[in-house]
Amino acid sequence: MRPDRLNPLFAAADSLKGVGAGLARPLEKLGLTRIRDFAYHLPDRFVQRRAVENLDEASVGENVVVALTPVEHRASSGRGPFRVVATDSAGNVCTLTYFGRASYTAKKQLPLGEPRWVAGRLDQYGQMLQIVHPDHVTDSSGAALGQLVEPIYPLSEGLTQGRMGALVHQALEHVEPLPEWIEPALLDRMQWPAWRDALLLAHQGEHPAARDRLAYDELLANSLALLLVKQSNRSRVGTPLVGDGSRRARLQLPFPLTGAQRRAIAEIEGDLTQSAPMLRLLQGDVGSGKTVVALEAMLIAVEAGAQAALLAPTEILARQHYETLKRMAAGTGVEIALLTGRDKGRAREAVLMGLLDGSIDMVIGTHAIFQDTVTYKHLALVVIDEQHRFGVGQRLLLTQKGRRTPHCLAMTATPIPRTLTLAQYGEMDVSKLDEMPPGRQPIDTRVVAVERVEDVIGAIARHIETGQQVYWVCPMVREQESADLAAAEARFAELRERFGDRVVLVHGQLRPEVKDAAMERFARGEAALLVATTVIEVGVDVPNATLMVIEQAERFGLAQLHQLRGRVGRGAAKSTCLLLRGAMLSETARERLALMRETQDGFRLAEEDLRLRGGGELLGTRQSGDTPFRVAQLDQLQRLLPVAHDDARLLVERDGGLTGERGEAARLLLYLFERDWGVQLLRGG
Ligand code: ADP
Ligand code: MG
Repeated sequence: MRPDRLNPLFAAADSLKGVGAGLARPLEKLGLTRIRDFAYHLPDRFVQRRAVENLDEASVGENVVVALTPVEHRASSGRGPFRVVATDSAGNVCTLTYFGRASYTAKKQLPLGEPRWVAGRLDQYGQMLQIVHPDHVTDSSGAALGQLVEPIYPLSEGLTQGRMGALVHQALEHVEPLPEWIEPALLDRMQWPAWRDALLLAHQGEHPAARDRLAYDELLANSLALLLVKQSNRSRVGTPLVGDGSRRARLQLPFPLTGAQRRAIAEIEGDLTQSAPMLRLLQGDVGSGKTVVALEAMLIAVEAGAQAALLAPTEILARQHYETLKRMAAGTGVEIALLTGRDKGRAREAVLMGLLDGSIDMVIGTHAIFQDTVTYKHLALVVIDEQHRFGVGQRLLLTQKGRRTPHCLAMTATPIPRTLTLAQYGEMDVSKLDEMPPGRQPIDTRVVAVERVEDVIGAIARHIETGQQVYWVCPMVREQESADLAAAEARFAELRERFGDRVVLVHGQLRPEVKDAAMERFARGEAALLVATTVIEVGVDVPNATLMVIEQAERFGLAQLHQLRGRVGRGAAKSTCLLLRGAMLSETARERLALMRETQDGFRLAEEDLRLRGGGELLGTRQSGDTPFRVAQLDQLQRLLPVAHDDARLLVERDGGLTGERGEAARLLLYLFERDWGVQLLRGG
């Protein structure tokens, strides 16, 4: 339960004055649903204006405060702007330009012949000086306006700076001081303000120390929660699993394992012999061969007389893993079952019985395998595929099934930079598959201007002739969902006209059955061309698909492009990836696409991606490979994460139950940043 004193911070956004149904959506898009979110909605930057005697002293593009006297109101016919022509003390003419409704207030605020202080950005329009939508117009205290530093907030459509500023201001009134959770010596050394002061300051102007403190809080909360997971895991009792090798000996693989695979398996085998449950991350690029490592681990569990479960993020992937593992493990005599939310009736009952009486050794499925109705005879190992799809909190629930805590092996193909591994997976030991199976052909990657789409379609036609298959990926970004969806459907219609019913469409809005049916037609080779939004990102394996087209490639992150591209190049044939780009490309976008051409090393791409994002960009706003942070920015992460991690470790060592004074404060911090699963572990064990 969240401590009472934090409740005001978690009150819903509509408890703020002026937040009605109309603003709910734009606010939600920014992630602003509670008072707390507003308090942490930090300005991108600040504007400060310079008070000038007259416009001779100002330059174009500058934010100024100047006294102007309106000499003419000039309404335009139709939908044009409303203009107020005004002069300064030196006789310079400046036009104040208003669009839409603002015209009405402007007329009243700027009566002819009466001097006013006007604050805004001085622009040039043709030969004319102008200020479009002045920020302020007042008849007193121009000097005060000149002192004013104003925050510029991230906005979404339907919001203005004025409105946002007012809402944040209201929210900050609910912020009461909290006890200090940062080590006093550190606070001193860094000269950081207290929490509430830091919040207020961060909205008032450039205060690097305040911003750092707030970022540090977030990093500390994250590290602390992860270390509490680690601590709690160590104190749990699992089942030591020692395999006799009997099943693994009967495993007939068509290839020798890579060195990296052997190392990972050895590390896992070592963990499994311990009674403290394993908590290990298997990190490996797409195609590095994680599945076989998972299978070996599960076979050890079976050899030791226990059961193993593999959790996949989607129905399709669960089925695919089931088929693959069944095929691989055919000679081992292991009983493998599939269980998803869609299995009903007799078949489902049979699987449930088998898990209960132990006749099923391994189960592959979606989260359905952990529902309350599912009881295991002796579940001792849980493998989680595509770990990044599950939050830490969710993961914890999964491993709490049964009297003894199962060993947990999490797998991820999302390449993340080293710095972020600590932040994302700080509670786990890591095994890395840093070596690709031999014989992989590089994927021929090219950047193509979208104007040449007809050539691309021609290439697809030739490709399909040879009996190979094609992916066509369309972007789907939450903020532009309906437009993106429409674009994907239009593309589908166009390709369908050309290639007939050999084209199928898959996107997130389709009913699961429809989606799966399309996927399965493609997987079976009945469909030659799959048009999809990024639902194919994870794990789908169709070796005969050797051409991928990615539309509006500049809108994807590098990590995401990399994962998408990993869907081709899975068979013996040469594969190609065409990155279609729009006409207007930023310098960064250009560099990103060039990097895709240059390298196929996911870890390298992840590092470069991070570098290209630069210091000022928020980490939490990206759609893929996201970090768990909203406040901390990249440069802060690099500077402060190691400090936060060490600090968290010290705190856990000294006061693992978080019962001391600082410990109590740290609990508040965990709730504040919604890492409360960290706290819940304390109570549980
Ligand atoms: P991922 O790490 O992306 O899950 P997979 O486990 O799906 O990768 O493996 C990708 C492909 O590589 C599969 O077809 C698999 O059979 C094959 N593979 C795995 N290990 C090896 C190996 N050591 N040598 C050759 N091929 C391998
Ligand atoms: Mg995989």
